[in-house]
This record gives sequence, C-alpha cells and structure tokens, in this order.
Amino acid sequence: MRKKILLHACCGPCAEYPLQELLKSDADITVYYFNPNIHPIEEWKRRLAQLEYLTARLGLELIVDGTSEPDIWIDWEKQGKTNRCSMCYESRLGKTAAKAAELGMDAFLSTLQVSPYQDFDLITSIGNNYAEKYSLEYMASDFRSGFRQGQNMAREDGLYRQKYCGCAISLENSDFREKILRDLEGLAAQQ
Ligand code: SF4
Repeated sequence: MRKKILLHACCGPCAEYPLQELLKSDADITVYYFNPNIHPIEEWKRRLAQLEYLTARLGLELIVDGTSEPDIWIDWEKQGKTNRCSMCYESRLGKTAAKAAELGMDAFLSTLQVSPYQDFDLITSIGNNYAEKYSLEYMASDFRSGFRQGQNMAREDGLYRQKYCGCAISLENSDFREKILRDLEGLAAQQ
C-alpha cells in the first residue's frame, strides 16, 4: 500500500524543493496550509495564493486551515512560553500531526525543514514528539541543501518570495520592513 504523507507547508517557495523530492517517491502526498502566526492577514492570503498555484500546477490536494491568530505571536510571552519560535513550531506541527491522524495518514513533515533560517534540530524534536503522540512517522527531512534551488524554482514559477519569516515581530525586524509595509498597504487597498 502506498504511504500517505501530509506535508505542512508554510508557503509556496518553501514547498518547491521538498515537493520535488517527495514526488520522486511512490507516496500519496497531501499538502496542508496551517500558519496562524502570519501577520498581517494580507500576507497570510498572499502566501496561501502562492501555495494554491503550486499545488494546482503539480496536481496535488491542498487542505487549508483558515486559522489566523497573529496577535498570539505579538503577545507570545503571555502564553507562558520561553521561546517564540518553539511555540510556532509546536503550533504548526501539533496541528499537522492531529490532521494527519484524523485523515488516517502514515506520516507527516514540514517545509519548515528546508529553511536554513529555522532551527532544524528543534523542529525535528518537536515533530518526533507529536509523531509518538499520534502513532505516526515524522519524516525529519534535511532539505536545506535544496533551499536555493527551491527559491530559484519559485522565481521561475513567478511566485512571490517573502522577505520575513511570518510573525509581526519578524516583520518588525526585517531589513526590508519599509518596502514590505508599502507592499502590504497596496494589497490591503485592493481588497
Ligand atoms: S520568527 Fe518565524 S518561526 Fe519564529 S515565531 Fe516568527 S514566524 Fe514563527
């Protein structure tokens, strides 16, 4: 029987390389968009749109969770956490594992593991914990060597490539903050 895999995806560009690699295997792949951290909502929609384009091009099913709770990431210390990014990984991997179990899948993983800017070992550890909880396999996959290739693939696909991680604090800290805010204002005006 073919292995059923749920791939958590944070955006289209980060999904490019992992999907290229996963599609080499004889597995059923479903893509899952659950990114409540992304601020503001125009950015949440923009990242989803890129992923919709990519999954449609590849003929893959995309499941979208509409949760958008960026304020939790602004006030993250009120959640009693000591590490904002750990909270972020926990949130997304926990929900992905639960969805994979609900759908009767065998395994799950995340495009977060393509980015050299994320904490690969922490994501792996959190993924393994949720895999144990739900009796699934966590496919800790070191896609980082393909990060640049994936970004180039996204450029060729004409995808928008974001310049900040996603939460409001990462936007504030971005070197491109002013340009991003101008772009987002333009998007908001169109909606
Ligand atoms: S910097 Fe990125 S991983 Fe860390 S909390 Fe913000 S969105 Fe999540």
